[in-house]
Amino acid sequence: MKAAMYYEKANDTDVRCMLCPHGCFLKPGQTGICRARKNIEGELYSINYGKMTSLALDPIEKKPLVNFHPGSYILSAGSFGCNLKCSFCQNWRISQAESQSADMTPEALVEKAVGLLPRGNIGIAYTYNEPLIWYEFVRDCSLLAHENGLLNVLVTNGYIQKEPMEKLLPFVDAMNIDLKAFSSDFYKSICKGEIDFVMNTIRLCAEACHVEVTNLLIPGENDSEEEVSALSSWLAEVSQNITLHLTAYHPDYKMKKPGFMSRKRMFELINVAKKHLKNVYCGNMHILI
Ligand code: SF4
Repeated sequence: MKAAMYYEKANDTDVRCMLCPHGCFLKPGQTGICRARKNIEGELYSINYGKMTSLALDPIEKKPLVNFHPGSYILSAGSFGCNLKCSFCQNWRISQAESQSADMTPEALVEKAVGLLPRGNIGIAYTYNEPLIWYEFVRDCSLLAHENGLLNVLVTNGYIQKEPMEKLLPFVDAMNIDLKAFSSDFYKSICKGEIDFVMNTIRLCAEACHVEVTNLLIPGENDSEEEVSALSSWLAEVSQNITLHLTAYHPDYKMKKPGFMSRKRMFELINVAKKHLKNVYCGNMHILI
């Protein structure tokens, strides 16, 4: 646990968190929508600071990042909590539910990452759950990682206010940002968030570091040709260098329907996206029918 950044005191006992667009107003004892920040006696704390639920040396392509140090590995770390509530979440066991964690300091994580350099490790990826609501820990680790010659990667939903994102960006080398649909209604009804903030984050970060974007396609929800075309066209306007990953949905968490994407449909949609972007990849193909 560590004192949180980016909040204000509403009065002697209540606080408002200003890290992400939700702006949670919290009374003593209350935890934010993300489950990662709590008002304790009138002060806001990051309660997932140093709490590690997953740690693994992954191929960089698994993040997914295909145009950033291809063929390398990255030490991938995750905690608990998320500030979006996607009913199809594929990591819901750590993002939305209680899960066991182990304590780890930034020094210990960086030391582990340095120790893995001989095995092809290039740095640390903050991933699995949402790293932006692990903000203080990610910031402390990223600073230390850079001092030790390591790279930092964020795999994120991009749901954060502009100022904290700007302050973190000097320590971030690459990001994979989810753009879950190209529709305000989808974000509102299925993710409980606002698409505009995610689009702002993509714009901001694409100017500062290497950015790839993931769009998980769900049959009947966000997989029309019009929507994929509009999403790709907008990304191309932000930067032609953005790599887009179209990944196939499989039923998970609260969303048990619809069924799997078909291989044929995925290839049709990849061709739609390729009319706008030169780098389009397909993910989760192994689960397709
Ligand atoms: S980071 Fe968490 S506590 Fe802060 S506003 Fe977002 S959801 Fe609420």
